[in-house]
Amino acid sequence: MTVRTRIAPSPTGDPHVGTAYVALFNYCFARQNGGEFILRIEDTDRERSTPESERMILDALRWLGLQWDEGPDVGGPYGPYRQSERGAIYRQHVDELLAKGHAFRCFCSTERLDALRLEQRAKNLPLGYDGHCLALSPEESERMAADGVAYVVRMKVPRAGQCLVKDLLRGDIVFEWSQVDMQVLLKADGMPTYHLANVVDDHLMGITHILRGEEWIPSAPKHLLLYGYFGWDAPQLCHLPLLRNPDRSKLSKRKNPTSILFYERMGYLPEAMLNYLGLMAWSFPDERDKFTLQEMVAEFDLERISLGGPVFDLTKLNWLNGRWIRESLDIQQYAERVRQWALNSEYLMAIAPLTQQRVERLSDLGPLTLFFFSGYVNPSPEALVGGKLDADAVRRVLDALTRRFDALVAWNRDAIDAVVRAVAAELGLKLKDMLKPVYVTITGNPSGVPLFDAMAILGKDLCRARLRQARAALGEAEEEEEPETEVAAG
Ligand code: GLU
Repeated sequence: MTVRTRIAPSPTGDPHVGTAYVALFNYCFARQNGGEFILRIEDTDRERSTPESERMILDALRWLGLQWDEGPDVGGPYGPYRQSERGAIYRQHVDELLAKGHAFRCFCSTERLDALRLEQRAKNLPLGYDGHCLALSPEESERMAADGVAYVVRMKVPRAGQCLVKDLLRGDIVFEWSQVDMQVLLKADGMPTYHLANVVDDHLMGITHILRGEEWIPSAPKHLLLYGYFGWDAPQLCHLPLLRNPDRSKLSKRKNPTSILFYERMGYLPEAMLNYLGLMAWSFPDERDKFTLQEMVAEFDLERISLGGPVFDLTKLNWLNGRWIRESLDIQQYAERVRQWALNSEYLMAIAPLTQQRVERLSDLGPLTLFFFSGYVNPSPEALVGGKLDADAVRRVLDALTRRFDALVAWNRDAIDAVVRAVAAELGLKLKDMLKPVYVTITGNPSGVPLFDAMAILGKDLCRARLRQARAALGEAEEEEEPETEVAAG
């Protein structure tokens, strides 16, 4: 049997370090066993999936050097590797489940399901579908569907007994079937849900081992049931521990930069990133801290994965990255990395038009563009609130910008301009007054090259990190002294 593993990201945002972490373990396991590593794009959420996000994820994994054997870009014998192109396959499998009586059409309205949820909450019952449409006869169900009544397809789930999930790391995990929801498999728009598409594709693509984050453990009973309904053998399951913030909460971009692009822009080396992600849940047999991807592949062993919640800690990553820079690059390689990072002609050509009209001597370029070659710019609270806005107003500006930038998909000058104007309008501030603290936040100085162009060049991840840093520099607002001045609800 050829070992086949996969990474199956949903292209709904920035390329996440968690994706790289899971990809690394799948890569190592496949390579160690002389197997294959597949990349599949799970874009069944049509509203949130974007081609831009898919491109960024592929670029980020390539930057790290985790090359896949089959995928939407390189093709392969089990394609297409993008779920949005596999609609007919899912439809056919849902029909099979309906015909065998393992799934049923559910015509319940959103209102009924909302009311059901409220009632279950009020009575402290487990949330989930109550099986209302199971009472329909197959003929009735056919007729309503033919009449055009909107429906979803749900899987049948036993109401009694237990499901045993065998996990390569955790042993047997027992679930009560009564706690497992009758999962929707096909949505009203005809698109499959994650659960159906994931199971069908893992089977059809010959995946033998699924290494994924522990947040998917609760989905495992549904998946195993589906494998059984189709009469297929299930792949082996292995749920990796989730990456955590230093406060041990789930790694989130509110507390830590989570986009791989951030780490690339900050000047971390891909070798150091992989090394660090490897250390998150795995240890080298001789406990060394620094190892290459090839060394990790050669020594990889699931037995050495530890389940303690790994903390993604920038201090340790910085230390390791420094070691990689100092110990593993000769001076020429080091210079070449610096050139690739930001002294390349593409980057310089982006910056040149912003500076030519602003310098008298070429040496003026240094102070004017320092922030283009920095990670953080460390603005002082005094510089941030030195203008027309007080600290509280600046806090609101930074929070509103962060919120709106997060929701922005296309990162370019005009989009940034529109967001900044929208925030000024939202907060009732003059654009001119608001720009100064934003300048300081992004560039470290109150003025300089055109701000929105500079932000477009810096990229969303560095801008976001600088907003977070400036926000942290201002600290939390003072407690209101008089309670009655608090805005009353409504
Ligand atoms: N599309 C899922 C994700 O975004 C894949 C989970 C799995 O590996 O089954 O993480």
